[in-house]
Amino acid sequence: MKKWEENVRRVVPYTPGEQPNVPGMIKLNTNENPYPPAPGVLQALAEMDAERFRLYPDPASSVLVEALADYYHRPKEQFFVGVGSDDVLAMAFQTFFNSKKPILFPDITYSFYPVWADLFGIPYEQPALDEAFQVVREDYQRENGGIVFPNPNAPTGLYMEPAGVEEILCRNPDVVVIVDEAYVDFAGPSAMELIDRYENLLVVQTFSKSRSMAGMRIGFAVGNPVLIQYLNDVKYSFNSYTMSQAALELGAACVRDGAYFQETQKKIIAARERTKEKLLELGFSFPDSRANFIFARHESCSASEMFEALKKQNIYVRHFDAPRIRDYLRITIGTDEQMDILIGFLREYLKR
Ligand SMILES: *Cc1c(COP(=O)(O)O)cnc(C)c1O
Repeated sequence: MKKWEENVRRVVPYTPGEQPNVPGMIKLNTNENPYPPAPGVLQALAEMDAERFRLYPDPASSVLVEALADYYHRPKEQFFVGVGSDDVLAMAFQTFFNSKKPILFPDITYSFYPVWADLFGIPYEQPALDEAFQVVREDYQRENGGIVFPNPNAPTGLYMEPAGVEEILCRNPDVVVIVDEAYVDFAGPSAMELIDRYENLLVVQTFSKSRSMAGMRIGFAVGNPVLIQYLNDVKYSFNSYTMSQAALELGAACVRDGAYFQETQKKIIAARERTKEKLLELGFSFPDSRANFIFARHESCSASEMFEALKKQNIYVRHFDAPRIRDYLRITIGTDEQMDILIGFLREYLKR
């Protein structure tokens, strides 16, 4: 090691899912939405005034914050926006997890959490999910410096009803609890309804999955205005202009096209339920996902073999070579047609 390298901050980065670019591929590996962005987004894009790009964007991101406040019928002081929910979450880790006590998140969860904790020097513990991959709520009663978990959880897809989230909040009034709702639009009620009663609750959502906008990088947080103010203080200490003018305008247009959002949401939920039935017939088992993916294992065929076989057909799914989950494939819900091709291939493949 060179002398200067002793002063380098070295980290083990997060591994994002592959972004292959193969014509005709069926991409079910990163939980993107198979449907195009809303017609309202395409129209806003066509009408966009590029002259505006000469200027810095609005640091308060008002056009997007106001569209969200309108859509969710909440005051705009409760909203914070960022460059995808990864940016919002990273900012929230830095802002709220500043204790010497460990923060808590499940052993099987979004694998970016330990990466941010390591990067920011935040101690953490990972209480184990039970055998059925459920969160054991009693494990979140010990002393801690904050709590974060996705709901529905990733990559299991299991959803906790608001009463369960509330139980965790009740027991942890002295720390910030972050609920990462990347998939909640496919699941059930958001914990957003609890923020008026729990000033320590931060709910984070994204445009990447349910809103077909992963490439635009838009995420947001909802919480008590005091929490939001603290987040903004850290953001303005880091980079005042995180979101581009294009992302702000297109994000606002996306939120305003609520009808299309609800329609694609319904189609994906229907395809998910249909895919579950077919997978069961083929000998797969899985936690009862409420997200836009299914985390499935086969009774006799290894996940890594299926992963490779699917890839040869240009069908991309995700496999995590990690303890407790290496027998599973995470399969994003695509269009009905894509799911039919996947199921058709698996049916033949498993006959060998
Ligand atoms: C996809 C995902 C995110 C990040 O989404 P972006 O908004 O695209 O950054 C955050 N948390 C979980 C659990 C996710 O699955």
